[in-house]
Amino acid sequence: MERRLKEILEEVRREGGRVTALTGAGISAESGIPTFRGSEGYWVVGSRHYVPQEMATLAMFRRAPEEVWRWYLYRFGVCARAEPNAGHRALAALDHALGERFHLVTQNIDGLHLRAGATPSRTSHIHGDAGQVRCAEACFPGTLSMPDIGVRDAKAPLSAREVELLSCPRCGSWLRPHVLWFDEYYDEEHYRMQTALRAAASANLLLVVGTSGATNLPMQIGELALGRGIALVDVNPEDNPFSAMCQESPRGFFARGRATERLPELVKVLLEGP
Ligand code: NAD
Ligand code: ZN
Repeated sequence: MERRLKEILEEVRREGGRVTALTGAGISAESGIPTFRGSEGYWVVGSRHYVPQEMATLAMFRRAPEEVWRWYLYRFGVCARAEPNAGHRALAALDHALGERFHLVTQNIDGLHLRAGATPSRTSHIHGDAGQVRCAEACFPGTLSMPDIGVRDAKAPLSAREVELLSCPRCGSWLRPHVLWFDEYYDEEHYRMQTALRAAASANLLLVVGTSGATNLPMQIGELALGRGIALVDVNPEDNPFSAMCQESPRGFFARGRATERLPELVKVLLEGP
């Protein structure tokens, strides 16, 4: 590991500092879940190709709920078949070792952090969770477990049974995926916005993994860390806005590389020293 990176991590370890991790689609890429920049996110409706930024919207759901649901059922199926990797496991080990000094803010809806052993109360899903649904008309607060639809042909229309399973048991409207859409806003109730910001405001180290910084709250968390001058490490094979922040910060380091190779060694130094 690079000398400067070791020094930064060693300092956090000696101080008994708080660590906030911020993860994006990149940490799950090696579990076989495509990032939004991969071509698998695309979807064809009629003869038109849609990108995730068009599919993952409330506007699209209002216009074509069955299409949007088919896309999510396909993506949820990919998540359900994936297994956590060494990156998820390294962060879960950090969570267990640091206890209340650790918090995970994830943009991923795939559930792999929890399946790797992350503590639910210390995990903020700021973009929602594939395992949950809620009433599209918000006739009740909170969420329900995602109905078990099983393996389905992605191109097949929804069956009557599937439509029934995806209907609100209280008011009969559509249930919706419990995910934050591109034309919606962060909040505390569903997406733990304040909790995530608090975790960033009290951290001694922000560890960013596999995110391109395309959305607002993660960028805000990065800026907050940069402004506070805390230790800042970014794990990503490619340049991105967080790697630029790391290069700007005196206590920052851009750990270029894949999550599965970088995170286990990083966590080892944070827990055991050099
Ligand atoms: P993104 O798709 O915009 O960017 C992914 C980032 O991961 C890129 O910077 C890429 O260089 C990096 N990356 C690729 N392989 C990596 C690896 N092996 N190790 C470390 N980094 C790697 O992802 P984003 O910033 O999370 O934003 C996309 C949005 O899409 C988010 O809102 C997220 O909720 C959603 N999304 C979630 C999933 C999931 O749940 N797994 C998958 C796709 C998209
Ligand atoms: Zn309802």
